[in-house]
Amino acid sequence: MDPVERGVLRIGWAQDHMSVLREATRDLVEGQALKGARVSMAMHLEAKTAVLALRLREAGAQVVVSSCNPLTTDDTVAEALREKFELVCYARRGQTREEYYEALHKILDVEPTLVMDDGGDLTRLLHTERKDVVEDVEGGTEETTTGVVRLRAMEREGALRFPVVDVNDAQMKFLFDNRYGTGQSTLDGIMSATNLLLAGKVVTVVGYGWVGRGIALRARGMGSRVTVTEVDAVKAVEARMDGFEVMPLRDAAARSDFIITATGVTDVVREDHLRVLKDGCVLANAGHFDVEISKADLEKLAASRRLVREHVEEYRFTDGRKAYLLGEGRLINLVAGQGHPVEIMDTSFALQALAVDLLHREGANMEARVHPVPPEIDERVARIRLETLGVSIDALTEDQRRYVDSWKAGT
Ligand code: NAD
Ligand code: SAH
Repeated sequence: MDPVERGVLRIGWAQDHMSVLREATRDLVEGQALKGARVSMAMHLEAKTAVLALRLREAGAQVVVSSCNPLTTDDTVAEALREKFELVCYARRGQTREEYYEALHKILDVEPTLVMDDGGDLTRLLHTERKDVVEDVEGGTEETTTGVVRLRAMEREGALRFPVVDVNDAQMKFLFDNRYGTGQSTLDGIMSATNLLLAGKVVTVVGYGWVGRGIALRARGMGSRVTVTEVDAVKAVEARMDGFEVMPLRDAAARSDFIITATGVTDVVREDHLRVLKDGCVLANAGHFDVEISKADLEKLAASRRLVREHVEEYRFTDGRKAYLLGEGRLINLVAGQGHPVEIMDTSFALQALAVDLLHREGANMEARVHPVPPEIDERVARIRLETLGVSIDALTEDQRRYVDSWKAGT
């Protein structure tokens, strides 16, 4: 099939299954609520992201897009956006570091009023090399945990120059996207990259945050024997109570068939662990960029390195043991898969669209700090999701509400 045609079909399929985004933005489109907004978007550029970009344009915004990772673009979708939808798109799969940053610079050349980021690269660029355009920016959104961690550091140092809505910490985002989205798509990426069996294998999940929980849960569902490693005592207790083995990564490394990182932290798998790694262990990252598995330490210890399958590099150590690194240590769910399932991104992107609308209306009056998604937006997206699922729920009676609101009623 012609790549552009394939991209158009992928966008169409996603569009047909993104009813929460459609419903949540119906009034924005009817009222052309985003007229006058120039939106620069740096997000994993695949079909669902394309649907979001097109919807914002339908609501009146001028939209330009690039990716937030050099290896996660679906080129068929990027090409379809350019050719069939005439949307300015600088994303391309396999960009060099220079090309990746060049593309981010280009989406800033339009002097955006709003920026949408995933991981913080665009925001960092705006506050360092592109201070020339930062004055025009009325607000930004951030999609992921580590991006928000960086924003909070900027806020603490008084460096942040515009208000940013923290989409990641909306309940309708992290509870589903980080947990179930990453749970499913990470295993999908690993399976499609390796074609190996998960049942009966030891899978170690590094980090038991929302992403780690989802991966551990789904790996158990595939019949794997799941181990969790943590640095946070409470999360470690939780993992143990959830029924997983918990131990230091050095111990887990010696017995794992798969190690999957999900921490947002640098060098979590490093020399110490590689020295004792079980022969044939598969290393995959579902966390942040390509920093969690130390590629420098792999290089240092390996006697040879070669590509043995698309997305699979074999590192052979001097003692003959082999380790397989997937997708250059970048997000395996997007490098070897299509990222989160459609319904997950539908909800996350409904929140993004409503955050963009809020910033377009109010951004100029909001403080330059990190703002939560207003609870009314979270609740609205949840209600729409329930409607699309055909699920109704109960409501408190007047008596119950009075009981809940009063301290005088006693027991
Ligand atoms: P989180 O903060 O809820 O969880 C991270 C966990 O890692 C914490 O419990 C922390 O204690 C633990 N941790 C930190 N350093 C560790 C170490 N050295 N060893 C073991 N555990 C360690 O964050 P999250 O929402 O779960 O996100 C994790 C990462 O995944 C972030 O970088 C986030 O941006 C990214 N993310 C990726 C996807 C995807 O599509 N692949 C989706 C959502 C989030
Ligand atoms: N840019 C960084 C940050 C991690 S991306 C990096 O590339 O390493 C993690 C985010 O990707 C998640 O918060 C999730 O919402 C988003 N994501 C996952 N699947 C996606 C998809 N199919 N399309 C667009 N975004 C997706």
